Amino acid sequence: MRKRKPFDTASLQPESETCFICEFIRGNSRYAHFEVARTGHAVAFMNKYPTLEGYVLVAPLDHLEQVTGDMSAAGYLELQAFVYCVAEAVRKVMEPERVYILSLGSQSANTHIHWHIAPLPHGVPLEEQQYHALMHEHGALEVADAELADLARRIGSTITTD
Ligand SMILES: [Zn+2]
Repeated sequence: MRKRKPFDTASLQPESETCFICEFIRGNSRYAHFEVARTGHAVAFMNKYPTLEGYVLVAPLDHLEQVTGDMSAAGYLELQAFVYCVAEAVRKVMEPERVYILSLGSQSANTHIHWHIAPLPHGVPLEEQQYHALMHEHGALEVADAELADLARRIGSTITTD
């Protein structure tokens, strides 16, 4: 079982009004993430504080804050088509028991909407699945940057759009 480290939600809070996802998209190295794939509308990148191995986030390139209200239905479905492709690549690379997909975020910290694509490995006891597996209360996994970079490359190269 991989080691976990404590996670402080305060670390998600920006020092200013800075949006870490917008800064990452602009290429600000202070907010660098391991990018998995990018389309004309969205980007997929590795979660820096994963609670499961192979945990990818997908965000629109535009700074949107309402998961439905800031997009047309067509725009939402276009984004979900990308979420599908990324999740399918995560499933092929990680071979999990199942893949969780959800949108979280906070108006107090990370306002830019994003989707979590989190693969649950095989063999996790029922009481440690779902929210238990996802939440930071139980710490974040200790994953080296080199491992995140490798996962980003493997998942990115597995994405197909058929
Ligand atoms: Zn933003």
